[in-house]
Amino acid sequence: MQDKTHCPFHTKTGACRFGPRCSRLHVYPEKSCTLLIKNMYTGPGLAWEHDEGLECTDEEIEEKFEEFYEDVHSEFLKFGELVNFKVCRNSSPHLRGNVYVHYQSEEDAVAACLALSGRFYASKQVLARYSI
Ligand SMILES: [Zn+2]
Repeated sequence: MQDKTHCPFHTKTGACRFGPRCSRLHVYPEKSCTLLIKNMYTGPGLAWEHDEGLECTDEEIEEKFEEFYEDVHSEFLKFGELVNFKVCRNSSPHLRGNVYVHYQSEEDAVAACLALSGRFYASKQVLARYSI
C-alpha cells in the first residue's frame, strides 16, 4: 500500500529542506528534460551568513552573477536547445545556488547530464540529476 503523498516542495523545486528526513515522498524521475544542479552558484549575493554585503557592492554582485550565468548558460547550450534556464538565488540552504536547466528534448538533457556529472566547476564537483 502506498499511502505516502508526494512532497509538494520536492515536486516543485526538486529540493526539499527536510531532505531524507522528510515524511513525504521524494521522487526522482529516471529521465527528464530538466536537469537540476544543486548549489552550483556559490558567488556573492546569496546571503551566506557572515560575508553578505561586506565585500561586494551590488554592482559587483550583479557582475559576478552575470558572469556565472553567461558561463554556465553557454556550457549547457552546447548540448541542445534550452526551454528554460534558471539560477536560484533563494537564500534557503536547500535551494541556494541551484541551477535548473530545461531542455527541449530529453536526449539533450541526458547528454548534458552524462557529460557534466563528475566534472568540476569552480573547484566543486558538479552533481546533475533529473528533475520533474
Ligand atoms: Zn520533502
